[in-house]
Amino acid sequence: MHELSIADAIAGIVMEQATLHQATRVKRVHVRIGEANAVDTEALTFCFEVIASSQPVLNGAQLEIDIVPHRARCRYCGTEFHVVQCILQCPDCEQWEAEVCAGTEFMIQDMEIDNADIEPEGGNEHAECAYRPEYSGGQ
Ligand SMILES: [Zn+2]
Repeated sequence: MHELSIADAIAGIVMEQATLHQATRVKRVHVRIGEANAVDTEALTFCFEVIASSQPVLNGAQLEIDIVPHRARCRYCGTEFHVVQCILQCPDCEQWEAEVCAGTEFMIQDMEIDNADIEPEGGNEHAECAYRPEYSGGQ
């Protein structure tokens, strides 16, 4: 299955990065996938969750998927158009000389991790909020 192998590849790369940064937990993974890869996002999310659940560091990680539209540019007239079903014919001049400019990529854009060495920011913020100096003087 197409989505399973992609999910497996994502999990592999994320785990490598997580190990490198000594992450205790991966919270969110943001990927950009070109439309030309014909990925079913629901199936990919499902496969990723299944793979993630078998790894303590990845368990519960949220997968965010951006699908990049498949676009091409005609070498004759310069028209940019949306490629439908991988047909690279220019809709304006009907030439078959188009160059793909987007929609074939597959990359991990960013990820959010919990790191054992870093103090959680939330704790400090909360402590500051609880201290309200204006109350000390009374009304
Ligand atoms: Zn054209």
